[in-house]
Amino acid sequence: DSAINRIAAGEVVERPASAVKELVENAIDAGATRIDIAIADGGKTLIRVSDDGCGIAGGDLPLALSRHATSKIDGSDLLNINSFGFRGEALPSLGAVGRLTITSRVPGEEAAQIAVAGGQAGPVKPAALNAGTVVELRDLFYATPARLKFLRTDRAEGQAITDVVKRLAMAEPFAAFTLRDVSGGGEGRVVFRADAESGDLFDALHGRLAGVLGAEFAENALRIDAEREGFHLSGFAALPTYSRGAAVAQFLFVNGRPVRDKLLIGALRAAYFDFLSRDRHPVAALFVDCAPTLVDVNVHPAKSEVRFRDPGTVRGLIVSALRHALAGAGH
Ligand code: ADP
Ligand code: MG
Repeated sequence: DSAINRIAAGEVVERPASAVKELVENAIDAGATRIDIAIADGGKTLIRVSDDGCGIAGGDLPLALSRHATSKIDGSDLLNINSFGFRGEALPSLGAVGRLTITSRVPGEEAAQIAVAGGQAGPVKPAALNAGTVVELRDLFYATPARLKFLRTDRAEGQAITDVVKRLAMAEPFAAFTLRDVSGGGEGRVVFRADAESGDLFDALHGRLAGVLGAEFAENALRIDAEREGFHLSGFAALPTYSRGAAVAQFLFVNGRPVRDKLLIGALRAAYFDFLSRDRHPVAALFVDCAPTLVDVNVHPAKSEVRFRDPGTVRGLIVSALRHALAGAGH
């Protein structure tokens, strides 16, 4: 089944940043409040994600590595998926494209570890760990030199990882994140860090926004809170004067997970259309929340695209809420 795993893996793991995304999402799903990420050489030689979440019991470690095994849905639940992505694909895919080691501990049990290389899992062994889970992925694509060659420079891959971590950090303001580059060995260099925020969701989001986009942006951001036909829009949008020359500061989420959806990006641009020249991009962190039946999140395992049942309503909601906020601020 390892050839199948390798094919599936290509869909899920395109580059180091996609591996980081899967692992951090797993940590979030496990209820972690502290997520530490270490990378070396742009994630090509090492990605390690440590969390303080619920852990995986030793006896369940082999199961976590088998395709389509997920603890997150059962058969009756297919239309009600609150966590994202193709279910049960990430860990087996990572085990097929790199050297994967999972160490984990559930409360009241001893810690355990399993290692996988080339899709072949070894035995479950006792290990040392206080709590939570540490997933380590070494030598991504070592067995597929063609894919390795396709990757960009360490710097570019590292940048893509930083971008993914910031997006996920924006989605989970109550959790603490650190991203360290340990290429040089030792404790490494802190690339990004966000302490856990507190207060209500808007307070927490505002604090996280300041940490990710800068205090000046957060102070001048317009608060968005609107609803239409089952879709709720919340978050912050910047005054046009805070626009950027690159589209790096658009944080869009559907039901709590980061997306890069054309419809949402288009709606954001449309709202700012009168205020921005073609080469300026609006800055915003916007959350669309709706019943799981109103959106299909499983369009593509890695591309973070979604399909709304009623795209016109979502677009209208975003454009009108942002225009209203901008008008209220004198634009
Ligand atoms: P999925 O996330 O779609 O369920 P994965 O392959 O990413 O599939 O993970 C398989 C399973 O391993 C999860 O359903 C979960 O039970 C377990 N798991 C993975 N990562 C963690 C983690 N960091 N903490 C606790 N459990 C985890
Ligand atoms: Mg997962």
